Amino acid sequence: MDSTFRRTPKIHLQDLIDGLIGGNRAFLSKAITLVESKRQDDKVQSAELVDKIISTAGKSLRIGITGVPGVGKSTFIEAFGIQLTKLGKKVAVLSIDPSSNRTKGSILGDKTRMDQLSRDPNAFIRPSASGSSLGGVASNTREAILLCEAAGFDIIIIETVGVGQSETIVKDMVDYFLLLMLAGGGDELQGIKRGIMEMADHILINKADKENINAAKRSREDYKNAVHLFPPNEANWTVPVDLCSSLENEGILDAWKKIEMYQQQVVENGWFMKNRSKQSLKWFHERIQTRLESNFYSQPKIHEEIKKRELLISEQQISVRKAVDELFNF
Ligand code: GDP
Repeated sequence: MDSTFRRTPKIHLQDLIDGLIGGNRAFLSKAITLVESKRQDDKVQSAELVDKIISTAGKSLRIGITGVPGVGKSTFIEAFGIQLTKLGKKVAVLSIDPSSNRTKGSILGDKTRMDQLSRDPNAFIRPSASGSSLGGVASNTREAILLCEAAGFDIIIIETVGVGQSETIVKDMVDYFLLLMLAGGGDELQGIKRGIMEMADHILINKADKENINAAKRSREDYKNAVHLFPPNEANWTVPVDLCSSLENEGILDAWKKIEMYQQQVVENGWFMKNRSKQSLKWFHERIQTRLESNFYSQPKIHEEIKKRELLISEQQISVRKAVDELFNF
């Protein structure tokens, strides 16, 4: 993968860190590119970088936003982000897109989708990371969150498409998970699985404007009834179902107020820190698994040895257990 970090002359790591901590967006971009790089020498540097900034990270509120394509995620994030910068916040927008391997950042590749926000000096928008696996992309995004925090961003928004693959991954890296929905049509129609609705800390029905308003109000009641039946969440939070119009900037500030209420509640009841530490530990164990797997498959001749045993297994000449034992001992 080509990277801007390599195209520009190499920067001394300490200069990169100083620039990043000073809140310089160009340095933040370079730092994210470095952690996404697959080159061995970059990996050594990025490990050092993340380790050096870790004590300054963690102080933001991390908000995940999902919803089917077309629901209005980028319109919402633009309106929401502008509202937040007006309140004096620094806002970073990152994204996870399972299709980005193929299309190179199909969600946010086009920054003009958040034209106004991208020109705001207190906002930072980063196109979707690419990677060979969703797990790898997720790990890069987690490190990008830490870098944004070290650069002084107060609110980190992680956008994902609501197609069922990346929501769990995003849920595991944010403090608050916001689901955007459309009025009318059951959730089946909207392609949103019940499991995703159950993960949400907030359901916001977007496009509640013009001739859509009554349908949106009816949907709000339906979703309220549905949410009522879900098991209580660990945060002890009653999931709100609200209306908004990202296009007309209605309900955006109210959504933020609910998020602040949530934050206050979970900081007080201890869930905020408990959840953060659960998430970090889960990430830690995931990285161990990934490392073990890549160490195993990168052994010389391992693929040859696997192939040989595949044949023996399909001809029932060896048990699966024996074949695996042999692979771990050859
Ligand atoms: P995304 O694919 O979820 O990021 O959706 P977009 O933000 O690109 O929005 C898809 C379309 O819906 C665009 O044409 C938007 O202008 C429109 N849209 C977004 N939010 C609203 C809204 O609140 N009201 C109305 N009427 N249209 C909206």
